[in-house]
Amino acid sequence: MKDLALAQWLEHCAEYIALLEDRLSAAIFEGVLQMASTGRADMLDSILAAAARNAAAAEQSLDDLLARLQTTKLVIWHRVEAEIDPDPAWDTLVRLEVIFQTALLSLTRHFLAARAELHRRQTADAVRLSQEAEQKVMAYATQLARANRELTRLEKAKTDFISIAAHELKTPLTIMQGYVDILLENADGTPENADAHLLKGLAAGTERLTTIVDALLDVSAIETGALALHPEMVSVSSIAHSVVESVSPAVESRRQQLRVDIAPHLPPLTTDPKRFFQILERLLSNAIKYTPDGGTITLRIRAEDSSAGEAESIKIEIADTGIGIAPEDRDHIFDKFYRVGEADRHSSGRIKFKGAGPGLGLPIARGLVEALGGKIWVESPGHDEVNCPGSTFHIRLPMNANLQT
Ligand code: ADP
Repeated sequence: MKDLALAQWLEHCAEYIALLEDRLSAAIFEGVLQMASTGRADMLDSILAAAARNAAAAEQSLDDLLARLQTTKLVIWHRVEAEIDPDPAWDTLVRLEVIFQTALLSLTRHFLAARAELHRRQTADAVRLSQEAEQKVMAYATQLARANRELTRLEKAKTDFISIAAHELKTPLTIMQGYVDILLENADGTPENADAHLLKGLAAGTERLTTIVDALLDVSAIETGALALHPEMVSVSSIAHSVVESVSPAVESRRQQLRVDIAPHLPPLTTDPKRFFQILERLLSNAIKYTPDGGTITLRIRAEDSSAGEAESIKIEIADTGIGIAPEDRDHIFDKFYRVGEADRHSSGRIKFKGAGPGLGLPIARGLVEALGGKIWVESPGHDEVNCPGSTFHIRLPMNANLQT
């Protein structure tokens, strides 16, 4: 039912509601005015439905909405009492109150419905997102498994290739080396003999090739678990001294100093002497190679006692004053074919590493140390070819390892 008296009051209040500068209060006022002037509650309801949806989307609270409704009503009341009708008709006020009650119910109902709808949509979105994420994870897991299978296959192909190539090369190489040796023995070594010079070049090349093929054979034996060990009780000190002797020409040619610090009266070690020799030789050769001319290399060997006071292990340290190793390379230098920096470094005078090898020395050293029941690791403050911070390789071998033969 139209309520013209009330509608007239309300029209006088419009400018005061506008002063609130609040969209929700303006919408409530508009709805109340429409219902008073047309008598249609559905108009109030549809205006408030839109306002409630906006409020829910803006994440306003129901308390906030009801507070604005109350403010809007109070503004109207004060305006009526103060200026429009100092003695207002109570029945008109009651009708105003009835419309506000209708507004309150409508606003609350639409707001709660809008919030429920939003919540439902957000839940549906969350479920959809989590399903999509799950599908992606599954797809990545499948791809990863496939890549892993491929990597394993490639790794196996690589190991097979190394093994086959090294075995196939070894026989003709041994024959070649034999012929070169015979020719060298019979050659006239005078400086005028150009053939002898060529033969020496051939011998050096064959020897280098033999070293690489032997390294490949070692890698393949280590990787396939085919490394044959021949353990015996050995004197650590005498093997260490023979290694020192074998590397001393290289040390001299680089004008380096090799300090040997071996504790006296070391107990005999149960190990494979050939493999033990090979480990020390590889690490000393690297120390020579990666230390500038005039640098110092130190070989330290000690026995370590158990808590019961018996010699338990042998601790070897090979320290150099060389170019050092960067932290990011420290974990990788024991991987086969890993070389620090570019692979195409070439020889230059001062530092021998500029003609670095195929990256098999340390993987072989680690494989051999582990086969002998020990551990190998490296410490270095970092890589610096100018200031040369140095590196120290550490090896610990058990005194009486139970070695597989
Ligand atoms: P390579 O045949 O290249 O010498 P290695 O397996 O013996 O192969 O060594 C791997 C890499 O580790 C080398 O290329 C070198 O960069 C680094 N390296 C090994 N020993 C030393 C050392 N004593 N000082 C500095 N770098 C070293």
